[in-house]
Amino acid sequence: MTIEKTGTLYVVATPIGNLADICERALETLRAVDMIACEDTRVTKRLLDRYDISTPTVSYHQHSKATKIDYIASLLESGKSVALVSDAGTPGISDPGSKLVEAVYEKGVKVEVIPGPSAVTAALSVSGLPSDKFIFLGFAPTKKGREKFFTQVADSELTVVFYESVHRIEKALEQLASVLDSKRTVVVCRELTKMFESIYRGNAQEVLEQLRTDKIKGEFVVIVEGT
Ligand code: SAM
Repeated sequence: MTIEKTGTLYVVATPIGNLADICERALETLRAVDMIACEDTRVTKRLLDRYDISTPTVSYHQHSKATKIDYIASLLESGKSVALVSDAGTPGISDPGSKLVEAVYEKGVKVEVIPGPSAVTAALSVSGLPSDKFIFLGFAPTKKGREKFFTQVADSELTVVFYESVHRIEKALEQLASVLDSKRTVVVCRELTKMFESIYRGNAQEVLEQLRTDKIKGEFVVIVEGT
């Protein structure tokens, strides 16, 4: 594979759990670039070690200052190639990737994608719910706007997908149970591609009860059938 050495930013999708879920072109790119910008260098190191990749890394996360974007942009402007990865999945989907991509476009840098896994599409594909059209709402708000969020989910004609953290997944299902008709199907995908992968399906109350019988741990995607 030929990697352009003319300052390209490669946006590279990485696994959402199982480290084997990475394509050949992603590995070739991670090997060939001058630098890998990643959220948590320790998380990305596990992937790089698994494939014997020794490319230097630089951290770029949601708390990174503008100077970090300037630094990465300056590497690109000087002709270096950089791969952008996130801790899991596709950079820019509910993580800080898009800010860097926007900034380098403004500098006239070329951007290329190496597509792959994302929790949103992985969950949707196993949900068994209509997915020809859907709405992705990112993370459910933690406090302010949470009630309105669940009303929006309940009113949606289309399948709705959102991310929820382990701290609030039980609460989210309680809130869904209070706003959804009991005929509406809810699917909760936990730890996709990992050892404790589980897919819970039913109405919101049923899914809540199934979840409570298991240990409520891990990462979650919630999918709600449209009206
Ligand atoms: N960019 C990522 C992507 O493309 O999926 C998403 C990043 S977002 C910060 C992380 C959230 O994605 C987690 O809190 C969880 O809701 C969801 N997620 C990531 N990996 C997952 C997995 N293996 N199983 C279920 N949900 C997952």
